[in-house]
Amino acid sequence: MGVRRWIRAWPVYRQLTGPDPLGRGKAAESARSAGLVPRTERADRVVDSVCPYCAVGCAQRVFVREEPHEHVVQIEGNPNSPISRGRLCPKGAASKQLVTGPQRVQKVRYRPPYGTGWQDLDLDTAMDMVVDRVLEARRKGWQDRDAKGRTLRRTMGIASLGGATLDNEENYLIKKLFTALGALQVENQARI
Ligand code: SF4
Repeated sequence: MGVRRWIRAWPVYRQLTGPDPLGRGKAAESARSAGLVPRTERADRVVDSVCPYCAVGCAQRVFVREEPHEHVVQIEGNPNSPISRGRLCPKGAASKQLVTGPQRVQKVRYRPPYGTGWQDLDLDTAMDMVVDRVLEARRKGWQDRDAKGRTLRRTMGIASLGGATLDNEENYLIKKLFTALGALQVENQARI
């Protein structure tokens, strides 16, 4: 590199002679930085979503690339959201890891009573097992009338405890489902 070229590449020279006298923009930019493009520019489409981590429900924009296979390249806050207005906390900003992390469990895991190891189950089998247990617990804990013959029609065999990751819509559906099953004990972490 010649002396002139070296001087022109020197950030202080560019700061003193160019349009960026405070050295906060182009004057301080290296050749490598100038060649970088945001991950979002490589996306083929953007999908609106909601951060899954907590009940604040910050809105997200999920940037998806189709090639060589469909995959998420970046997740950012959605500025159109009246709740979060484009912001995500550090946890929400890192939620791409939740989707793409190699340690993510992608199969249903089951450890039978007294078992010492986990088994893989297919989703249909697992769902049938859940349904069987819910119906059995409901039936066992069912109370049709109290000691004075008054109508109860409830089950004491099922309780629901929701977590802070559940949003309004999920809590609405959970309350509706469990009330329809006859359960009285429907609680959420936020109330405890
Ligand atoms: S971005 Fe943070 S505050 Fe917003 S929903 Fe996700 S975890 Fe909650």
